[in-house]
Amino acid sequence: MHLRVSDLKQFHYCPRVVFYQYVLPVDRKVTYKMEKGKAAQEQIERLEARRKLRRFGLQEGHRAFNVWLSSRTLGLSGKLDLLIETEEELYPVDFKFTRGRPFKNHLFQLAGYALILEDQKKKPVNAAFVYLLPQEDAVVYAMSLELKNECLATMNEIRRMVLEEKFPDPPAQRNKCEDCEYQNYCRDIW
Ligand code: SF4
Repeated sequence: MHLRVSDLKQFHYCPRVVFYQYVLPVDRKVTYKMEKGKAAQEQIERLEARRKLRRFGLQEGHRAFNVWLSSRTLGLSGKLDLLIETEEELYPVDFKFTRGRPFKNHLFQLAGYALILEDQKKKPVNAAFVYLLPQEDAVVYAMSLELKNECLATMNEIRRMVLEEKFPDPPAQRNKCEDCEYQNYCRDIW
């Protein structure tokens, strides 16, 4: 079963989000945050193409925006916001419209891109960035072997959940539900 990189992030946010997408497809409302994030991202892409790479702590590198990544071996694909390629390494960059520090679930998304890139391009991915759009600030994360293995284990968990069609429990932190586009479908929460 082929998965999307965004499934990794969403599964760690709340497994029900992924369940709805694969097992029980429903309409979801487009939130203000989603619309605002898309507009901000388009603006940053235009600016970022002309800027230096210093904000990423890099001296040189080739930049490519909106890169489609896919691996048959992993059964995983997704569109990466920005890929920076140097002679030795690759750096995936994910744009986020959020003011606080990114949550741990974002790391799984980055690790998903890292796994595909290593498989596709045969170059190491040892670090990745979340680019915070409101602050125009890049936060770096190590792409450790442990994180990549956790990512692979998550993919197995998702496939098992879909295969068994088992409706997952809601997240322990119920404040996640307040901003969720699927809240109309989780009647047991409200
Ligand atoms: S409303 Fe809560 S339980 Fe339902 S999908 Fe969203 S985060 Fe998960």
